[in-house]
Amino acid sequence: TMKSKYIIRIDDACPTMDRERWLLFEQIFDELSIKPIVAVIPDNRDPKQQLSPDKGDFWETVNRWKEKGWEIALHGYDHVYITQEAGLVPLNQKSEFAGLPLERQEEKIRSGIEIFRNHGLSPRVWVAPSHTFDMNTLEALKKHSSITIISDGISFRPFQRYGFTWLPLQLWKVRRIPMGLYTICYHPSATSLGQIRREGERLRSIANNIVSVDEALKRPCPKYGILDSLFHALFMTLRKSLKLITRK
Ligand SMILES: [Zn+2]
Repeated sequence: TMKSKYIIRIDDACPTMDRERWLLFEQIFDELSIKPIVAVIPDNRDPKQQLSPDKGDFWETVNRWKEKGWEIALHGYDHVYITQEAGLVPLNQKSEFAGLPLERQEEKIRSGIEIFRNHGLSPRVWVAPSHTFDMNTLEALKKHSSITIISDGISFRPFQRYGFTWLPLQLWKVRRIPMGLYTICYHPSATSLGQIRREGERLRSIANNIVSVDEALKRPCPKYGILDSLFHALFMTLRKSLKLITRK
């Protein structure tokens, strides 16, 4: 039997997300009692996320998810990439945040938090668009939000670093790994209905090992150390040959 645990994350919620695909994911999550992290873009300006008409009920939907126990995470501010920096988690070379001066990042975080607050939301989890953020982003989060958890980083377990708790993210589809804690991240806008149904079956096969953020953080987690950096090095070496990464 597997001792590993999995957190599920679903990215790019915004008023113009693809409704049909999101609803299918939601049905699967309900059926399997999964409480995912949902990455919500406060003020989307990314044309790639404009897929269905805005019906004006988006924030009601987000609050409905919250009622179900979904973890509502702050996903950047407008989801527009304006630098070519990789930042602290070197998976992509495009960013809404990494490389920008602190003041500009503070402005984005403050504005995003204000939009969330206007809809009754006080997030505790940060999800950077494209995994790209830097020390200034963390500084801005400390100053202007109540966020204490970063959904990102590469390890096999949650860890403490730079004054935050990190829930590492390593997978973009179900993979059975004997031990550790893994986050599996989905992008409905880039996944067909058929792919979502097939992935739903794979999720069913690991459903007993899927946990919420609260369950994942029940035990205190260690400071980032040598074991984490060894895992990181191995992951970066193997990721191309194993096709672990989709460049989203
Ligand atoms: Zn995104």
